Amino acid sequence: MSAFRHLGLEVAPGARGATRLPVADVAGGYSLSVPLHVLNGAHPGPTLMVVGVVHGEEIFAIDAIRTALASIDLARLHGTVIAVPVANPPALAANTRNSPLDMLDLNRQFPGSEEGWLSQRIAAAIAPLVDRSDCLLHIDGGAIERVIHYTFVKSDGSGNGVTEHLSRAFGLKLLYRGSHSEGSITSYAASRGIPAVLAEIGGSTLYTDLRYLQRASTGVLNVMRALHMLDGAIVRPAEQQVLLTRRTLVRVPVGGIFHPTVGLEVIDGEVAGGTVLGTVMNPYSLEQVGEIRAPYARSALLQMRVLPSAVQPGDYAFIIADLDSAEPA
Ligand SMILES: [Zn+2]
Repeated sequence: MSAFRHLGLEVAPGARGATRLPVADVAGGYSLSVPLHVLNGAHPGPTLMVVGVVHGEEIFAIDAIRTALASIDLARLHGTVIAVPVANPPALAANTRNSPLDMLDLNRQFPGSEEGWLSQRIAAAIAPLVDRSDCLLHIDGGAIERVIHYTFVKSDGSGNGVTEHLSRAFGLKLLYRGSHSEGSITSYAASRGIPAVLAEIGGSTLYTDLRYLQRASTGVLNVMRALHMLDGAIVRPAEQQVLLTRRTLVRVPVGGIFHPTVGLEVIDGEVAGGTVLGTVMNPYSLEQVGEIRAPYARSALLQMRVLPSAVQPGDYAFIIADLDSAEPA
C-alpha cells in the first residue's frame, strides 16, 4: 500500500489526513476552499469518494459521513476513502440549495472550469478527485421542511450491473432507476466510467430519529463492504428491496402555506391513490387553494414535505413513485 498524495497532502498507509482544496479568493475577503478528508487503509484496495452538501441546505450527509468515517479501523481498511463532507461551503453558510455567490446549482456544473463561474471553479477543484476514484458515493437530499428516502440507481452504460449492485448495497428499501441530471457529480463520474451511487436520504425530522442517521452511516460502510474495502456482510433492510422505474415530481400548485397530511409513517410504505398528501392555504384569504393527492393506485413517497411552511408555486412538494412499476425481483 502506498501513500496517498493530492496537492500538498501526503497520507501514509494506515493514517488519516485532511487538507483544503483551494478554489479562489472571493469578494468577501476570504480564500474559499473545500475541506478534504482522507483515510488511507493499511492494505491495498480501491478508492471510494464520498461527497455531501453539494446542495447547501442538505446537511444530513455531514453527520452520516462523520459517523461512518469515525468507525473505520485503518488497520483493517483495504484501499482509501476520500471524503468531501461539504462540497459547497457558500451554500451551506446561506442554508440554500444554490450558491448565494453566483446563484448556480453546483450539481449542474461538473466537471467545472477553473476559469468559469465560482461554482464551476468549486466543481473543478473536486472533479480531479472523482477521476482517481473507483466509486463515487454522493449522499444527497433533504432540507428543513422536506425529507427524502431512496437510492437513485443511475445507468453507468456498462451493462454489467456494478452501479446497481453498489446502489442496492447502500441498503435502503426503495430504489428508483432513472437517467442522469446533466452536470451532476454522479453523471460526471459515470461519464468517466466510474460507478456512482446517489443516496437520497435525510432532511427535516429525520434528524430527530437516530435510526435514519445510523441507516445513512451504515450505507457508507455497506458500499465499502461491497467494494471489499471492509470485511463483514452488507447490512440489508428488513424488507425486500424494490427497484422502481416510474415516478413523478409533484410541485406545489399555488403559493401559500403548505400543510402536510402525511408524515414519516409512510416512508418505505404504500399510499393509496387519491389520498390527500398535503394542502395549500392562502394565508390572506384564509381559504384552502390547493391540494395534492397520491397519483398512483399504489404510491410510494420518495420525497415529501413534512412541515408546514410558506411555499411558492413550483417548489418541490413530493417525489412519488408507482409501486406497480417495480422491476421483477
Ligand atoms: Zn441535492
